[in-house]
Amino acid sequence: MEKQVWLFTEGRKEDRMLLGSKGANLCEMTSLELPVPFGFILTTRVCADYARIGRLPHGVMEEVWAAIREIEQRHQARFGDASNPLLVSVRSGAPVSMPGMMDTVLNLGLNDSIARLWAESSGNPRFVYDAYRRFIQMYGDVVEGLGSEPFEEILEEYKRSRSLKSDLDLNAEDLKVIASRFREIHTPPDDPREQLERSIEAVFRSWNNNRAKRYRRIHDIPESLGTGVIVQAMVYGNRSLNSGTGVAFTRNPATGDRVFYGEYLMNAEGEDVVAGIRTPEPLETLQRDLPDLYAQLYRMQQILEMHYRDMQDLEFTIEEGKLWMLQTRTGKRTPKAAVKIAVDMVSEGLIKEREALKRIDPNQMDYFLHPMIDSKADRDVLAKGLPASPGAATGRVVFSADDAEAWAARGEDVILVRRETTPEDIHGMKAAQGLLTALGGMTSHAAVVARGMGKCCIAGCGEITVDAAGKRFTTESGASIAEGEVITLDGTTGEVMPGTVPTVSAQADPDFQTVLSWADRYRRLRVRANAETPEDTTKARELGAEGIGLCRTEHMFFDAERIDVVRAMILADSPELRQRHLDRLRNFQKSDMRQLFEIMSGFPVTVRLLDPPLHEFLPQEEKELRALAGRLSMDPQAVMQRAAELEEVNPMLGFRGCRLSVAQPEITRMQVDAILSAALEARKAGAEAQPEIMIPLTVARSELDTVMALVRETAEHVFERSGERIEYQLGTMMETPRACVRAGVFAEVAEFFSFGTNDLTQMTYGFSRDDVGKFLPAYLEQKVLENDPFTVLDQRGVGALIEVAVQEARKVNPELHVGICGEHGGEPRSIRFCHETGFDYVSCSPYRVPIARIAAAQALL
Ligand code: PEP
Ligand code: MG
Repeated sequence: MEKQVWLFTEGRKEDRMLLGSKGANLCEMTSLELPVPFGFILTTRVCADYARIGRLPHGVMEEVWAAIREIEQRHQARFGDASNPLLVSVRSGAPVSMPGMMDTVLNLGLNDSIARLWAESSGNPRFVYDAYRRFIQMYGDVVEGLGSEPFEEILEEYKRSRSLKSDLDLNAEDLKVIASRFREIHTPPDDPREQLERSIEAVFRSWNNNRAKRYRRIHDIPESLGTGVIVQAMVYGNRSLNSGTGVAFTRNPATGDRVFYGEYLMNAEGEDVVAGIRTPEPLETLQRDLPDLYAQLYRMQQILEMHYRDMQDLEFTIEEGKLWMLQTRTGKRTPKAAVKIAVDMVSEGLIKEREALKRIDPNQMDYFLHPMIDSKADRDVLAKGLPASPGAATGRVVFSADDAEAWAARGEDVILVRRETTPEDIHGMKAAQGLLTALGGMTSHAAVVARGMGKCCIAGCGEITVDAAGKRFTTESGASIAEGEVITLDGTTGEVMPGTVPTVSAQADPDFQTVLSWADRYRRLRVRANAETPEDTTKARELGAEGIGLCRTEHMFFDAERIDVVRAMILADSPELRQRHLDRLRNFQKSDMRQLFEIMSGFPVTVRLLDPPLHEFLPQEEKELRALAGRLSMDPQAVMQRAAELEEVNPMLGFRGCRLSVAQPEITRMQVDAILSAALEARKAGAEAQPEIMIPLTVARSELDTVMALVRETAEHVFERSGERIEYQLGTMMETPRACVRAGVFAEVAEFFSFGTNDLTQMTYGFSRDDVGKFLPAYLEQKVLENDPFTVLDQRGVGALIEVAVQEARKVNPELHVGICGEHGGEPRSIRFCHETGFDYVSCSPYRVPIARIAAAQALL
């Protein structure tokens, strides 16, 4: 039968899927002979079996008891023994870290009589009763599902009645009384073996609690992974004043600086540091107070970073002056730290460029493209906290996760202000621009989660007092900020400021530029931008775009001073009048296009012929139509009638795309004239213009032939008129299923294909792009679909059509240039698909260009 329980000596870090990452890393540390409290792991397969059959599979507990005997031997203590009891912790550990989402039981193995005898024999009754009351509470919370509140209430009430400030003020007798009051709420089973079996089951169950499920949904973690359960000998950071516990990073996770960095609390259990209940001390204090111990810890972090060749996030415990390592994992880091660590580790010779590049999360790189507080801005500081996650955020203050979500849904930027955050707050943290907490350190829940999300966060801001019920916070300086007021956070300095403060971009960060230059060295895919204004085009060049992959000419029509000319053209009742308006539009388009060719000199500019249905240019309301008639000196009745004629039942499937060119060739003639005249003018001005004319929404070869002939004939007119020629490419968008199926015959004439995956997804699924919001959330919620197909390219359906199209087309024309210009062109997983399918380029919005450059390199690596 398959092994269901693995000792720490039996696994390695590569066994992450089976043992969970925490468990696999405990095995790895054990194999490195670091001081790890001994233990074992029940595999993620047991988790799946448990979920399926509703109980632990046969034989598991026999393996557990054998493994317990191994711990007993190594730790010289006996499980269930009263004079020298072995206590264990029972923790979760999934293949992907899900901090704080699942349950833990500590100090397992105690009951009334063991506690009493051990309190006597150990000579440390305070510690024993502290461990015991914690166990009763955790068992009640996790196994019995009672929550922790009833226990917290008893504890608080007890301290209040005796005027005690902190848990540290409780003596052995106090803790004994508290333990017995806890037992009035519930009593765990007396038999430690039963305690263990039931706790293991409870931790497996916690894989499916709502918190964990929500976390998996947000972070795209598959449901099928399951968690391992780790059972490990307890070591006690709360044993005495000579004991403690802490967390550390081998490098600074906020800035990436190469300094050993962390915090700890003496006389405390691990949860106390992370929960932010007491504010921890920095490691510098440990170096001063316990230099030998600090030196040992320093050595361990060096060993671990060298071994893993990546920044590690460590947990340690000191028990009576002895150091124990409880966890190591690859540390979460801010985008700034991610690129700095990658670049530094390459120059330190720890890793190769290719490896460094693979470690960058392209989606995290958004940070460099978004603002930071301008160093020259005036700073009116309300309060200062810990700089837990850098960047800047401005928004209206809200005091609950639900409010954050609700306000954000209304389009408001919000800052979530909490005393501290818990995993229950995740949805609000996701919705907020930034987070501010009064309690907790750099490794508190708020700090860790915000860094993971790449969000600005200030934690441990002790200068503020949060009144969540009264929806306001006050500062030591006497300011009072109510719900809805605007504040700005500087996550890089920890400063909270009133109102909106000017920001600048981190785009020029030298490490970021280094990473981008690596990406450019490795990638095969070219990256272009979707842009139509000079501003966007300039930005796109700045961010490394190698051309424009989609210029939507209709956006040039919407400009305020032109829209009425467009409308007049649409409404014109004679060919002569229509031509007059088209001539004016031609001038507008020509001057716009000329600018784009000049900015993109030396790079291709793909200009798409008019695509949307004409009625989209007309106002909707009768009042506005009448006003328009007035401005154009037309009969209001005639205007309204023409508008009514243009209305369609299914406009997305209606009179749009190249259908406009077939039915109203004069618009296409005007556009082609404008594009090529602009290219000629730009060339005259010294630019190297590379125009590409793109026909949208093609469905048939005959249709393509018709429009291509129209374009070529117009081009010849332009060349004759101006007495000079310019090279141009003529191709089509591929955005209907029929076009994909007929790609082979399209490729006989088209010079390039650009997949318009927005429309292609719409038409493949039959999901209206404009109406999916009504049902897609339910599809995602119920996992009917894994992803929004308009965000992440559906490789099995839409992708299959694309693959067929590219294969058939390349059979006919192996040189055919192929790109993508739908929204998917900036999405890393979709970019990888484009790479693998043999595309030449992707085109995306300017701000996604750097992300696409990195994703394109990763696709190749
Ligand atoms: C597309 O359909 O993918 C596309 C790029 O065109 P648009 O979004 O303008 O319809
Ligand atoms: Mg389209």
